[in-house]
Amino acid sequence: MPKSVQTHRQNHIERQELLKKNKMAAGLVSERFPGVSEIVLHLTYYQRGPHPVLMVRTMNFSPTDYAYFHMDCMREECKNGGFDLTSVVTGLVKARKKTVKGKICCDGKSPSLAPNHASIAYEVSIQSAKPER
Ligand SMILES: [Zn+2]
Repeated sequence: MPKSVQTHRQNHIERQELLKKNKMAAGLVSERFPGVSEIVLHLTYYQRGPHPVLMVRTMNFSPTDYAYFHMDCMREECKNGGFDLTSVVTGLVKARKKTVKGKICCDGKSPSLAPNHASIAYEVSIQSAKPER
């Protein structure tokens, strides 16, 4: 196996392990947000350039999922970047609101990346379980 492939695979495994750890640390949706039945994230990824919309994705979180809302930056060379929606979700639950919209810019740094190389627009919706009678 060429060395570069091996290194790449090693990095990938390390990343997966780190992600697993972070998810475990975040805890489950049912633990972090009792009474919430579903969290939906609508995300639009933007990049700098002539075709700004990179992708659109919807993510659904149920009570048995990990309450991990950190999204990676799509630029491979971006280190310590990404978009953390944890405080957005937490704030929404605390405020007892149903939806919130906003925008986050990636603050990851690399010599080959512009400071505003990537951003996301988000819409977060929360469904609460009906109160038990
Ligand atoms: Zn980035």
